[in-house]
Amino acid sequence: MTQVVVPLSNPEPRFLVEHSRQAKAAGADLIEVRLDLCLHEGGSPSAIIAALPSLALPAIVTLRHAREHGSWDGGEDDRLALYQRADDAGAAWIDRELVFHAARPWRPQRAKLILSYHDFAGPGVAPAAKIKAMRACRADLAKIAVTARDAADLAGVRQLFDGEGPVAAMAMGEHGLPSRLLAGVWGSAMVFARMPGMRGSAPGQPDTADLLGMCRLRSQSAATAVYGVIGSPIAHSLSPLVHNLAFAHHRLDAVYVPFRVEDAPAFWDACGSWLAGLSITIPHKHALQGRMDDLEPLCDLVGAMNTIARRDGGLTGANTDADAIRRCGERAIGALSGRRVLVLGAGGAGRAAVFALKAAGAQVALANRTQARADELAREVGCRAVPWTALAGEPFDLLVNMTAVGLKAPEDTPWPHPFPAAAGVFDSVYNPLETRLIREARAAGCRSVLGLDMFIDQACAQFRRWTGLEAPAEAMRAACLERLASRPLTSQG
Ligand code: NAP
Repeated sequence: MTQVVVPLSNPEPRFLVEHSRQAKAAGADLIEVRLDLCLHEGGSPSAIIAALPSLALPAIVTLRHAREHGSWDGGEDDRLALYQRADDAGAAWIDRELVFHAARPWRPQRAKLILSYHDFAGPGVAPAAKIKAMRACRADLAKIAVTARDAADLAGVRQLFDGEGPVAAMAMGEHGLPSRLLAGVWGSAMVFARMPGMRGSAPGQPDTADLLGMCRLRSQSAATAVYGVIGSPIAHSLSPLVHNLAFAHHRLDAVYVPFRVEDAPAFWDACGSWLAGLSITIPHKHALQGRMDDLEPLCDLVGAMNTIARRDGGLTGANTDADAIRRCGERAIGALSGRRVLVLGAGGAGRAAVFALKAAGAQVALANRTQARADELAREVGCRAVPWTALAGEPFDLLVNMTAVGLKAPEDTPWPHPFPAAAGVFDSVYNPLETRLIREARAAGCRSVLGLDMFIDQACAQFRRWTGLEAPAEAMRAACLERLASRPLTSQG
């Protein structure tokens, strides 16, 4: 079973004790006392070591050397003397770097020994060989912490669990986050997590709520199906929140994690084989079509893909944004066939909108700030292009905003004109939740549909493709509203 470790570094023993209680309440199994960081902050080694028996959880004591990105720059004699005192005082584990142990072997008498290796710049030099060397030194646990430069590096970390004996291996940095969130799937003996609202001790540590709550670490096993979303940036994505909620709702043995990916084909080639399904967001919606066995017709038509599903032993690409846009349009004004729909925006989402709405039989008109883009897309889809500067008075039954206007800017609107009576208005922006466009449309008596409705709808369509089941849309929506209220997004996608 994977043990959850919360690193602590407060130099005051009473805060260490208090934080160890909080870590226990948050579900941690162990704490790591980063003695090097405590001492660096002016802590007293004697007072901190004396506090070890009062901690609420068993402790790993670590005096990380400056050469491995810690704060200890004293001599090895002094370090071993402090380790010895920590061992005598009841530390459960002592963590020492392999390179120092190899030069001067030392074992605690009571505590167990972690031998560790770190690379803060890249995926490390022969980490599998390092694990072998740690075992040869009779380490009770081999720990490898390397840095993922892109998510494709996760494949190398996953392979480290193929051998015998307990290993704690993780990739640091945002690109490496899935290695921590999937610790129970990959079989890591330990995973390091921070308390919500606190800083971690290494880049990319998840908080205990995301690890234990959202990703249900305790229920993970080698049999757990892994799904995720690729994009860059990705930290803001609400997809892990809603899909994990849906998996938990149906009691499916599956987990969904955010992959920050810069090179999508390289990621897919390295990691695709162990993924059960994938969501794709900006900027990768055009990157992986060539890897699919089959594309759904709308995905093929739009030329952008936001979903990969495994079907009948093959890979199928889908565009659930396009489906969702059509359904949101219908939610606003009912059947779309023959209705006048004015789409604002000719970017990726605008493209999905005009194809989906045209395929639903609507009379589509398109406007875009950059006229040439509107003209080109209108020609391709076979609809009318309206000049951006001549929009006032343009008649419509449904206005669809697929521009980024209003995103993070509540005072901006793409439609500073009067609204026709009884029209519908659908805004794809959901950050803020209620845009100026939506506020003014409602005030004018229009029926409105929010960007969050589109987000939930496209996610439900993905979930259906992966599982054949209906996702709990209302619970997903409520979770998003709660998250948006407590942690405003810095982006959306
Ligand atoms: P994109 O490809 O970058 O396109 C951006 C679009 O916004 C272009 O049409 C661009 O016009 C226009 N635009 C940007 N700033 C503008 C301004 N100041 N005035 C007028 N037009 C402006 O992005 P995208 O992927 O299509 O996304 C567009 C919007 O849809 C975003 O707000 C995105 O968050 C939203 N979206 C929502 C969901 C959802 O689930 N709710 C899903 C996907 C997308 P130019 O061509 O002139 O630059």
